[in-house]
Amino acid sequence: MSFARLASDIAACRLCAARFAATATAHAPRPVLWARPGARILVAGQAPGMKVHKSGKPFTDPSGDRLRDWMGVDAATFYDRDRIAILPMAFCFPGYDARGSDLPPPPDCARTWRQTLLAHLPRIELTLLVGGHAMAWHLGGKASVTARVAGWRDHAPAVFPLPHPSWRNTAWLKRNPWFEAELLPVLRARVKEVLDR
Ligand code: SF4
Repeated sequence: MSFARLASDIAACRLCAARFAATATAHAPRPVLWARPGARILVAGQAPGMKVHKSGKPFTDPSGDRLRDWMGVDAATFYDRDRIAILPMAFCFPGYDARGSDLPPPPDCARTWRQTLLAHLPRIELTLLVGGHAMAWHLGGKASVTARVAGWRDHAPAVFPLPHPSWRNTAWLKRNPWFEAELLPVLRARVKEVLDR
């Protein structure tokens, strides 16, 4: 199957329609897929939030601003699909839970699409695992996000586990200053190295 056909099939996917219809927002699936086969960096995120559900473009929110800062890239580079693929663990906004937080990505999405999609991205040299769901799928096993990020040297330079760049993690960043002081300079250098190649 060609990449274009696969992307078209995902864009038409309605597997979670009933699940999303049962949430408070009662929204329909809107898969947000951002990739082309030549990409060299993979951003493996969680799932689109409501802003991205509306814009149809990944990380068009404050989380995206923070992630771009962590990577040391501007928006034009970040959204260059020939260089950076952005594939969350679910391609659609999952809805809100009772406390108003985003629901976790429905596992059916990765189960249905992820392996096949990654097989169409043979040039990936650097993978950013953004949040616990991406870490669990890509790394396997069980560990806290903090433990996985603290162990980043075990996976670099091919893979970097990162906390989600959401404002909800601002306190986490303050509690873990080594993240900005030690991990981010190495990550930025690695991103530049891969993009410059
Ligand atoms: S989240 Fe994934 S599996 Fe569910 S409807 Fe969207 S594209 Fe399909």
